[in-house]
Amino acid sequence: MTPALILHGGAGAVTPSALQAERRSGLTAAFEAGWGILVRGGTALDAVVQATVTLEDHPLFNAGFGSCLTEDGTVEVDASLMDGSTFQTGAVGAARNIKNAIRLAWEVMADGRHVFLVGQGAERFAREHGLPQAAADELIAPRQHQRWQALRLGSGQAQRTNGEPGTVGAVALDSSGRLAAATSTGGVFDKRSGRVGDSAVIGAGTYADSAMGACSATGDGEQIIRATLARTAVELLRGGKDPAQAARTALAHLTRRTRGEAGLILLDPFGRRGVAYTTESMSVAFRAEGCLVVRV
Ligand code: ASP
Repeated sequence: MTPALILHGGAGAVTPSALQAERRSGLTAAFEAGWGILVRGGTALDAVVQATVTLEDHPLFNAGFGSCLTEDGTVEVDASLMDGSTFQTGAVGAARNIKNAIRLAWEVMADGRHVFLVGQGAERFAREHGLPQAAADELIAPRQHQRWQALRLGSGQAQRTNGEPGTVGAVALDSSGRLAAATSTGGVFDKRSGRVGDSAVIGAGTYADSAMGACSATGDGEQIIRATLARTAVELLRGGKDPAQAARTALAHLTRRTRGEAGLILLDPFGRRGVAYTTESMSVAFRAEGCLVVRV
């Protein structure tokens, strides 16, 4: 089976032109990291984790280093992943000092006792499992700090919501027909401490079932949770339906029921692709007719 991979770098406002080249190269590097695993016969799960880690480490995406700040000026990350062949999942929410939240979600999944850890318990679990810790200010990218300060100083430049896109996500199909999905984020700018969004919630921001499809969503987290967007999109693939249509239908449901704005990436078990968004813009990377397509 021919593998497939789609990444997103968030849905929201149009990326400022000064940042486009760097975001493009970040998505390209992440795609190559994930794709390399798939073409060497690796698993969809490893591919989505590796691609997500690469984007978490990039300062221009809202995940890991580069995450947006809470109203307290701290970084609290959310992430989740799902293996569509084993139905195993792992998720973390509102976790501080975590360099790569998706690796922590993976550890939660591999440990198997629970599927979702938050806050201090997640942080302790990370220490116990030897994951790299970051000092509180080490994850704060200068751009995000400036944005937070601008809001505090009331300069009117910074807006609470609908900022630059930056949450990251990946869906993959491997050569054995397994599907997997992963999502990671710093959440929404100026959020309350302790807020957990859709990116940590299986069925909302992330979902995978190798019999049906895999999805990672981004956008208005509270509304995406209400609409269980990722699961809805995957369910719409039942009976071999077209992923492009399923992606649009799932977002139409979100709009109708919640007025939320979002974007999603979707793969079916044949490697067919769905990419849709109701925001101004969405960053994505995928292969089409043998060539890498990157949009920022
Ligand atoms: N969905 C993310 C959240 O609500 C934010 C985003 O995708 O931009 O945490």
